[in-house]
Formats: sequence, C-alpha cells, structure tokens
Amino acid sequence: MEEAWLRSQLESGRSIEAIAREVGKHPSTVGHWVRKHGLVSSHAERHRSREPIERDQLERLVEDGLTVEQLAAALDRGHATVRYWLKRHGLVTVRARELTRGLPGDGALRFCRRHGYSAFVKTRDGHWRCKRCRVQAVSDRRRRVKQILLEEAGGACALCGYNRYAGALQFHHVDPEAKAFALADGGLARSLQRARSEAAKCVLVCANCHAEIEAGLATIAPTGPCR
Ligand SMILES: [Zn+2]
Ligand SMILES: [Zn+2]
Repeated sequence: MEEAWLRSQLESGRSIEAIAREVGKHPSTVGHWVRKHGLVSSHAERHRSREPIERDQLERLVEDGLTVEQLAAALDRGHATVRYWLKRHGLVTVRARELTRGLPGDGALRFCRRHGYSAFVKTRDGHWRCKRCRVQAVSDRRRRVKQILLEEAGGACALCGYNRYAGALQFHHVDPEAKAFALADGGLARSLQRARSEAAKCVLVCANCHAEIEAGLATIAPTGPCR
C-alpha cells in the first residue's frame, strides 16, 4: 500500500476502517501498512479515544480471528481500549478461546462481572453461565433452605439447647427406617417442600449430642420434639 496515498487518506481524517472498505482489504491489513510506514492516524486517536467501539463491529473482527494486537491495529485504538470493550461486550478473541480448550465439558472462557474471565457452561435454556457463580448460587440456596428448616425446627439442639452456630446443628432421623435422604449438602439442594417433609421426620440436635445419640450414650424419645 502506497505510503503517500495512505498518508493523504489519514490526513483527510478517514478512519482505517473506511480506508479498508475503499480498497477492499481487511482493516488489520491497512493497520499493518499504517504502522509499517510509520504513520499514525492522529485524528483517530485524538477524536475517537473516548468513543465506544460498537459491539457489531468488534464482534465481526473477533470472529475473523484477530488477536487483541490486531484488533488494536484494525480499529486504530489502544490495546487497553480494545480489552476494555471486549470485556464490556462479553467478547473473547479466538486465541483466548483456544486457551480454554480442555476445560471440562463444553466450557468456554467468558467474562463474568464478579469473577473476571472464568469458565462458563451452557445452561439448558442455551444461555452461558459462569460456573463459579453457579456453584455459589447452589451453596447460597442450600444455606437458605437450611436456615428455614432450622428456624422451623426451633433453631436449637433439642437435647442441650445449643444454638450458637447453624453449621453445628444437624437433623437426626428419629426412625432411620423412614429416612429418604440425609438433610446435608445434596439433600438441601432438593425442593424446599421435600426437604421440609424430610425434616419433619427429624429432631434437631447439635453435633456433640448427635454423636452421643449415634454412640448410644444419649437417647431421644421417638415421640420427642420431632414434628
Ligand atoms: Zn462468576
Ligand atoms: Zn446438643
């Protein structure tokens, strides 16, 4: 690409994209020649540095396989600016995507507001969801379900009255035969209704009393505080 012509184009204030359209080349090619000739489209940097990079435009170039460096050249913007808008639009370069190969499942590296770039999985409804957010949501839900069950069960050990730490309170099945599932971890991930009907077969005890019950040192009357 001829230097004088390119220079005149840039001086007339045209963007690299516009020039690329005119000559039927890819913007990254024009960007390459601009740098090769030591030209700068000062106009662009000065006037466009605060302008947004539109999602459509960025996505097209990303799908063409451009790296951050090539995007910066094609769009005539700084690397930091390009990174910012990639994040903002939730776009990931092909190169970055390749780095995620080998992630379990059909995971992909995407941008999460809470966790930055992290593994995403596709949900049943076809949306992408951050895996760490999802794990978090499940454990939040378990904690909420347990909190509800604890309150409904009186919130304290039926034997000794201990109530300081919810994590040390457990549901003991009065009749092991009637037990459908344990009200810990997985059991708390079920519907509140099912967890609730299971809790009704239990008595709430602290970890110490629970251990004593299991060892036969303490007993609970079958008709005791269990509801
Ligand atoms: Zn997340
Ligand atoms: Zn106790």
